[in-house]
Amino acid sequence: MRRELVNDGLDEGRGGWTPDGPRRKALVMSQFIFDPPAQAIVPIEGRSEVFPVRRILCVGRNYAAHRREMGGDDRDPPFFFAKPADAIVPPGKDVAYPSRTANLHHEIELVIALKAGGRDVAADQALELVLGYAVGVDMTRRDLQNAAKDKGQPWDASKGFDASAPISTIKPWSGPAPQGRIRLAVNGQGRQDAVIADMIWATAEIISEASKLWALAAGDLIFTGTPEGVGPLVRGDHVEGEIEGVGKLSFKVV
Ligand code: MN
Repeated sequence: MRRELVNDGLDEGRGGWTPDGPRRKALVMSQFIFDPPAQAIVPIEGRSEVFPVRRILCVGRNYAAHRREMGGDDRDPPFFFAKPADAIVPPGKDVAYPSRTANLHHEIELVIALKAGGRDVAADQALELVLGYAVGVDMTRRDLQNAAKDKGQPWDASKGFDASAPISTIKPWSGPAPQGRIRLAVNGQGRQDAVIADMIWATAEIISEASKLWALAAGDLIFTGTPEGVGPLVRGDHVEGEIEGVGKLSFKVV
């Protein structure tokens, strides 16, 4: 379906006075030069409506043991980076092995789905913005990330690539954020196994910290960081992730 930008102001050039009628109010239509991109969506458990993805923010180094395995300093606070909305891979789809890497890593993460936003949100109000939670995997071209770190270059190519954000159905949620077990297995072998309660920034703090940097809005997803045990994936691998109380995610790397 064609969508149009509508400017309902007066078209001074082509409207104007005519001898036999009042000034005509012209509708000025601006058409897209090509069809706008498809909206990235995530299904919601128990609902026919789907979640339209606006932005994807991600937290780095939010578990102490993972920060250590990445060579980080114990005093460094977590930080944010981002992925484009169209990096989302909805549940049930395979994940294509990306180009230009020989070291694709899995990072299982709790994902916050926002139904409302704001700036400078206090941590004790932050959970009111939450629609629900999902299980996500922050796919990472680790070789490109390590090269970027060495050169002080940005992470976009290592983190924000096509199909870099497989995600489960969103589980609607109210009240205290999930705290339970988070784990990931590859071909039935456990790789990551930790508890959400070990996050350095808790869920409410993540939302509050993000809102100091960006105006958050409905449709934003926040990947909250991964625990220790990240590792490589190859074509043919079957990845299964689970967060206690939130849901499961599984996909094949093709
Ligand atoms: Mn991550």
